[in-house]
Amino acid sequence: MSSMPVPVLEPRTSLSIVGEAARFPVRRGFCIGRNYAAHAREMGHDPTREAPFFFLKTAEAIVPVEAGVETPLPYPPGTSDYHHEVELVVALGQGGKDIPEDKAMEHIFGYAVGLDMTRRDLQGEAKKLGRPWEIGKSADASGPVGPITRAGAPGFSLSGRITLSTDGVMKQDATLAAMIWSIPEQIAILSRYFELKAGDLIFTGTPEGVSAVERRQVMVGAVEGLTPIRLKVV
Ligand code: MN
Repeated sequence: MSSMPVPVLEPRTSLSIVGEAARFPVRRGFCIGRNYAAHAREMGHDPTREAPFFFLKTAEAIVPVEAGVETPLPYPPGTSDYHHEVELVVALGQGGKDIPEDKAMEHIFGYAVGLDMTRRDLQGEAKKLGRPWEIGKSADASGPVGPITRAGAPGFSLSGRITLSTDGVMKQDATLAAMIWSIPEQIAILSRYFELKAGDLIFTGTPEGVSAVERRQVMVGAVEGLTPIRLKVV
């Protein structure tokens, strides 16, 4: 009979909160697909307002990124086409089921800049074969997220600029106002299918300009009014 010790789990991943010592514990990552028309088009899809769809990033994929720290981001195995997708991340401070759209914003703790890093070649294969996307979307360390700014803090608005550069070259540059499904709509719809909980994150989709990164490249993701994140692919 095995004498293997009972596993002891690592503590939950947590994100820093701007100006506070407390940290935000991460529960799950929900991600919306094709939420900016120009990105849907660059991926070969019709950007008309089809019903939104979601996929998950495991908590293990979330990597906390601290203000002003260049964080190493490991290039994952199994891909030769690893893409950046810069996204506004919504952090929920309060959960619920069937949350009405007009109450959805009350559930938001704050906002951060995140990346939905994607093994594009594996995602493409999964799409073609009608398979799940996790192998493309939920690689270890594929969800770096920066410090959370509390909802209502001055300087941030849902119409601000969202950008990503690699080695100083601007690749993604858009406005949050270009989202197809608004944040209250995303929360309301998700909460019909899942009981949302405090600690859940929502990656709200990426604008156009996604591209592959290589080892040693430095990515800087930013959203107006939030703390930018800086990552070096290793
Ligand atoms: Mn995405």
